[in-house]
Amino acid sequence: MRSIVHDTTVVTPAGREVRTLARHSLVFEDGRVTALAPAAELQDRVARGEFDTVIPGAACITTAGLVNTHHHLYQSLTRCLRDVQDERLFGWLLKLYERWRHLDYRAVNLAAKVSIAELLLHGATTTSDHFYMLPPHTDVRMEAVLDAAAALGIRLHLCRGSMSLGQSGGGLPPDDCVERDADILADCVRVLDAYHDPRPYALRRIDLAPCSPFAVSRELLRDTRQLARERGVLLHTHVAETREEEAFCVEKFGRRPVQFLAELDWLGADVYLAHCVYANDEEIGLLARTRTGVSLCPMSNMRLGSGLSPIGRMLAAGVRAGLGVDGSSSNDGGNVLAEARQALLVARATTACENSGAPLLPVAEAFKLATSGGAACLNRPELGHLNVGAAADFAMFRRDDVALAGAAAQDPLAALVLCDPPRAERVFVAGREVVRDGRVVALDETALGAEFNDLVAARFR
Ligand SMILES: [Zn+2]
Repeated sequence: MRSIVHDTTVVTPAGREVRTLARHSLVFEDGRVTALAPAAELQDRVARGEFDTVIPGAACITTAGLVNTHHHLYQSLTRCLRDVQDERLFGWLLKLYERWRHLDYRAVNLAAKVSIAELLLHGATTTSDHFYMLPPHTDVRMEAVLDAAAALGIRLHLCRGSMSLGQSGGGLPPDDCVERDADILADCVRVLDAYHDPRPYALRRIDLAPCSPFAVSRELLRDTRQLARERGVLLHTHVAETREEEAFCVEKFGRRPVQFLAELDWLGADVYLAHCVYANDEEIGLLARTRTGVSLCPMSNMRLGSGLSPIGRMLAAGVRAGLGVDGSSSNDGGNVLAEARQALLVARATTACENSGAPLLPVAEAFKLATSGGAACLNRPELGHLNVGAAADFAMFRRDDVALAGAAAQDPLAALVLCDPPRAERVFVAGREVVRDGRVVALDETALGAEFNDLVAARFR
């Protein structure tokens, strides 16, 4: 099956640059991009009927699929929960654990569908999901998320998350919400054996992801790292998100959060870390030297009053960075382009506050965070761009959408980053259409929304 998006405006990272290619065509076959060339060069082949599918592209900006590197898909269950709207992280978590201890398979599955639908509809084609809330007294399993992703067609890095340090052991979560270290490690092995696909272009990978330094034991951090390195999979966790976490780590471990991870050999090219708001210049240098990835989550950090991550200083130091929308209880949406815009605004405002005279973060750098930067965090060189050999993951936004009107004629790249991002018109993952006419192909969005509202009203308020 050979397909072509014909005569469109392509926006894609290419090496260190971002290229905007007017009147180009994108050919894809077996889930991969096989040609990217001026439309005029491919016109004869289109006329001869060489393509099984011809997708007209003139009305759209076609961008590399967006990559989201940090999420908790189940958290749409407690989006906008009244009790925690004005709470900071620790207070927010303590009240949310009381709701999340009632999770079950169906609730997680529906929540994952809602969150994935939202991501797809806004042009994301790959997401990481850090799923750490698996109370032992429930039927919650990683399959609740895997099934939702497979049904809707998004590319998934599912992080087998974990919490093992309950309140009786000095941790933050209630004791009945945490699992035993041995049970966590056994399930990590089970999920890796059953679902991890190490091949390039894989639709599904498993990463290992203890929740945070204040929710797992030091032994679990060590053993998870060892298992991940034996199996050649990625490690992920939250770190340096708030001042309170920093104080917790200094008091309990005698180390600041990033230094604590360094001591546990938890930095490197196989690690990506969410937040790093409270990383000082020395720690930023360490993240860059070790090639550790960072998932920047500026909206969540501001929503929870956590702080402003040092995005400009990280990028200037050469840290591998991508974006995470974070869970929908702290954002409260799944729009990666909106996150790119927010990252740009935070970086620029921080530069002003620091009065360093550093240049403003360019639009193209913010776009790279949402695409090739995120792909680099996930060690996926085949994602986040549309050059020949890339996965056929892309999103098409209408140029005449009022949100982009005028901007699309000025500069399509800037339109994507600086305007209010509209819904995508069409989205493809591995060459398969997952959004058509602005609707998710595999589900009845309105029915899902109504069913989900009923569930939330009955059990998660
Ligand atoms: Zn998070």
